[in-house]
Amino acid sequence: MSELVHARVLEHLERLRLGHVAERLDALLSDAARSEPTYLDFLDQLLREEVGAKQRKRVAMGIQIAHFPAVKTLEDFDFRFQPSLDQKLVRELSTGRFIANAENVLLFGPPGVGKTHLAIALGRASVEAGHSVLFTSATALLGALSRAEAEGELADRLLFYAKPKLLIIDELGYLPFEKRSAHLFFQLVARRYERGSLLVTTNQLVTQWGTVFGDEVLAAAILDRLLHHSHTLMIQGESYRLKQRKKAGLLAKNSPENRG
Ligand code: ADP
Ligand code: MG
Repeated sequence: MSELVHARVLEHLERLRLGHVAERLDALLSDAARSEPTYLDFLDQLLREEVGAKQRKRVAMGIQIAHFPAVKTLEDFDFRFQPSLDQKLVRELSTGRFIANAENVLLFGPPGVGKTHLAIALGRASVEAGHSVLFTSATALLGALSRAEAEGELADRLLFYAKPKLLIIDELGYLPFEKRSAHLFFQLVARRYERGSLLVTTNQLVTQWGTVFGDEVLAAAILDRLLHHSHTLMIQGESYRLKQRKKAGLLAKNSPENRG
């Protein structure tokens, strides 16, 4: 009889898609036989296990879909090294609340100060908060849009980049845009405006965006949409890469790189 019940419970767990509890049922039952929890505590434990397993699975999948180029987290970001950075704002952004309001984030700073690191870390935190995220470099994004346009598939590509609740565009401005690319970028920004969040990292000040996009009017139109409902993070410190090499004694104290 109890074997019958056991089989039925398993079947019901599967049918309700409580696969984790189904898998762990025997272990959970023998634990319970030993520690004799209350009925409520036992139910609580089952539900927590299932919810926990589902959350881990969802996060792992979301992180895979996001295509982050590396594993970087806020825990391994050394805020003491960048005192100019608004840590409180970074923490607030890591809740993912800005995504619910379709707000943007702009992250400015010179090379090596941790922009990509923070972009990935905030992206991961956003996945954990339940949002869909896609990470791309500006170069890869523009390449994909240009190719799609040449192949007559621009609408599909734009839709692809419009879908994730948070689109991270890394390293905008490292290379100046061609005129056509700037138009494609504008289309994407316009498409996402007030609908989905963008997180953009760049080493170029806003005043230089005209040069980046090769067109002042277009740059102004892009900036207008990006900056309306946005948060700005500035990192003004020293390159972290350089610091590590200095620490390793690879740079002489007064080498040109050390001074720059
Ligand atoms: P950027 O994108 O601004 O050029 P990165 O984010 O690529 O810089 O940082 C360069 C390297 O230094 C990466 O490996 C990154 O993880 C590390 N890094 C940068 N800043 C910090 C920091 N404050 N704490 C820990 N690691 C850092
Ligand atoms: Mg970078």
